[in-house]
Amino acid sequence: MSINHQKNIIEVEKVSFSYGNVEVLKDITLAIHQGDYISLIGPNGGGKTTLLKIMLGLIEPQAGQIKLFGEKLQDFKDWSKLGYVPQKAINFDPLFPVTVREVVAMGCYGKKGLLKWLNKKDQTNIDDALAQVEMTKYADRLIGNLSSGQQQRVFIARALAGKPEVIFLDEPTVGVDIKTQEEFYSLLTHLNSDMNITLILISHDIDVVTNEVTELACLNQTLVYHGEPKKFMKGNYLETLYGKNARFIDHNH
Ligand code: ADP
Repeated sequence: MSINHQKNIIEVEKVSFSYGNVEVLKDITLAIHQGDYISLIGPNGGGKTTLLKIMLGLIEPQAGQIKLFGEKLQDFKDWSKLGYVPQKAINFDPLFPVTVREVVAMGCYGKKGLLKWLNKKDQTNIDDALAQVEMTKYADRLIGNLSSGQQQRVFIARALAGKPEVIFLDEPTVGVDIKTQEEFYSLLTHLNSDMNITLILISHDIDVVTNEVTELACLNQTLVYHGEPKKFMKGNYLETLYGKNARFIDHNH
């Protein structure tokens, strides 16, 4: 895939959203380009998850619109271009009777529908996805027997098996140790730099993501900042958003 940093993958245009009469997002305009590695950050309750749901068409904004790959979301059909990695909040029973390979195979069904047999090409996609996340040798293990970090890699492989152009990740490093976190971020850099996959990462871990991503979008009802992490750190944004001792407050959250 040739990469075009000017090509819009997701356009959020003047989007506002309220739950009942509580306004959560106000007039958000944001473009995400092919090849971006962007993190959505901001205080708890700032609207990150809500915006993610709007971008995926799960909830509809009261104002504004979303375009995916240049098409209005209502007309967009090629959902297999989008991959999703959930929060690491699932605690599998160690005996949960599903293997790593079976979890990754689920990533192929977006394109095919659930009742189709997987063909040779799908099997190759599954093998490739496992190899990309270095989990090939765990393919026949039960998912519940793996560590948190390994399970996360399997969920990335599941997203990769559908051959997406963009992957959304929702707070992927909650509750994992530092070493696992480092390995996880180097895997994400590999997906972005070597495989040209656009990454959109919701994170509360500002300290970490500013060193990893190429762009930050900071939400606190409005879009407070969108641009390079460096400029964000130089500006007064942290203190404005989180108050003094921002880092400590955020780490304890
Ligand atoms: P973030 O992901 O930045 O923490 P959210 O988008 O989850 O923020 O939440 C934004 C605000 O919307 C919060 O005040 C939250 O309590 C509220 N909220 C989220 N989901 C719902 C819902 N389903 N119904 C009502 N209020 C909600």
